Amino acid sequence: MKSPEGHIEQATPDLLVEELQSLVDRPIRVMVVCGTQTRAMLKYGLEDLLPDNLEIVSGPGCSVCVMPAGHIDAFVKIGLQPDIITATCEDLLRVPGSRDSLETIKKKGALVEVVDAPMEALDLARKFPDKIVVFTAIGFEGAAPDVAETILEAAREGIVNFCVIPSIRLLPPSLDNLLNDPELNIRGLLCSAHVEAITDTEAYADLARRHHLACAVAGFGIPEILRGLISIVKQIRSGQPSRKNPFAGITHSEETALNKKMLSEVFFAVETDWRGLGSIEGSGFVIRDELSIYDAIKRFNIRFVEREEQIQCNCSEIISGRGTPNDCPAFGISCTSRHPIGPCMVAQEGICASYFRYTFGRL
Ligand code: SF4
Repeated sequence: MKSPEGHIEQATPDLLVEELQSLVDRPIRVMVVCGTQTRAMLKYGLEDLLPDNLEIVSGPGCSVCVMPAGHIDAFVKIGLQPDIITATCEDLLRVPGSRDSLETIKKKGALVEVVDAPMEALDLARKFPDKIVVFTAIGFEGAAPDVAETILEAAREGIVNFCVIPSIRLLPPSLDNLLNDPELNIRGLLCSAHVEAITDTEAYADLARRHHLACAVAGFGIPEILRGLISIVKQIRSGQPSRKNPFAGITHSEETALNKKMLSEVFFAVETDWRGLGSIEGSGFVIRDELSIYDAIKRFNIRFVEREEQIQCNCSEIISGRGTPNDCPAFGISCTSRHPIGPCMVAQEGICASYFRYTFGRL
């Protein structure tokens, strides 16, 4: 039997755009949280095809972009100490702190290695027992289980020349902060399929309920994104957007339960600084005292110091949905993908990088 939504499941992007055009009967502003989805939309020129009344704004879903300069300074400070190997993801290398980046200290002789996963950083620690390997653990809640697993593995093996700079951020508290801003007037939230990998979808369901928000979870292809937007518009038109929990269909596997256990063994949530959003209660993970030998911040007695941004950059407005790269005087002039000024141009998922790649110079 065909499901009532069967025609939507099989529709082509053209038909889905048509359907969206016919459904939008009022001004609606939707936040697309994930930088990868924003990138896909720009790549295929989707925003030009959407109804005029449907406004898409970007959210804080780029973990490199939300890292304040003061945190980069802490990474740099630790990386400059003797016998340290900083293990980091590639995206973070060029993000500027108040004076240096990990890339500039590498050029000056600091040992900085690019890794794709925290377990690779632990491998480096096994390989170089006379060095201390410091892993820059950035990312959102979906990245946290791998970091927790690596710390627990190091503890099991008794590896002590390994530690982590805990910079994992939790999206729901930051979204809550943005959704409280009446000027932003966000009516719908498009969440990426990454949300299926996390342990706490209830936090998203709670957001939807409290803010009377229409939500949808979508993959990264254009048809999925369009279906997500159609679902959001239909929920708004029904007048009861948060009645149905959009996350209820996400099934949690045994792996999810294990992840949840590891997270509670290793981390707890505290107030954390975000670029552009300030300090938000319960929005970042720190490592429990029992495992403090794996916490680079405690081990090297470093503090994250909040600093005024030294650079003229509008990333703060962009990651909070309050502006677009086109509002920034530097976009495409002094700030380009070859010579990025701010993290939104540095990071692959950064909104400025996506705008520059897919829209700059387009007529
Ligand atoms: S274009 Fe460059 S300077 Fe402007 S907001 Fe984006 S990253 Fe910052």
